[in-house]
Amino acid sequence: MTPPVAELDLRSAIRSIPDYPKPGIMFRDITTLLGDARAFRRAVDELVQPWAGMKIDKVAGIEARGFILGGAVAHQVSAGFIPIRKKGKLPHQTVRMAYALEYGTDEMEMHVDAVKRGDRVILVDDLIATGGTAEGAVKLLRQVGAEVLAACFVIDLPELGGAAKLRAMDVPVRTLMSFDGH
Ligand code: AMP
Repeated sequence: MTPPVAELDLRSAIRSIPDYPKPGIMFRDITTLLGDARAFRRAVDELVQPWAGMKIDKVAGIEARGFILGGAVAHQVSAGFIPIRKKGKLPHQTVRMAYALEYGTDEMEMHVDAVKRGDRVILVDDLIATGGTAEGAVKLLRQVGAEVLAACFVIDLPELGGAAKLRAMDVPVRTLMSFDGH
């Protein structure tokens, strides 16, 4: 659930840009939050607050904004960091998963040895919309035997149903604020 106190403080740190990258999309820009030391720290603290004190082996971040938030979260909870990248970017042997985009599909990859069977992993990205990207990442982590403890996002676009999709996959979802529309 969205904690109202955190929402009050953090919402104003998000910049909204209409019609980017194309007409009809309201782009929720987190670079303004990242550039504000207080808001950045607050967001990182709040993202993993329900799992504070639990054993977390790894934090997986989705390219590219999930790397920034996920790296900070990993440091915060003393966990390792795993990059989940677009295909063709990782140098070692990978596992690959197709995921749904608005039009068509793409593939994401993770190093095959990034996670050990039974590792407790938290997934992090900046925003969840349709949930196609996060669903692919959860499947990829589960494919190599990870236990996905939770998926954490600064922003939820609930009308697009992504958080509900993840919860239906038995993944607890943490979001810090939500916006109407796309
Ligand atoms: P989805 O797979 O539909 O849940 O899309 C999530 C991914 O697309 C995340 O990595 C977001 O960074 C990006 N994204 C989707 N919609 C927006 C938006 N309105 N503003 C900013 N980023 C978005």
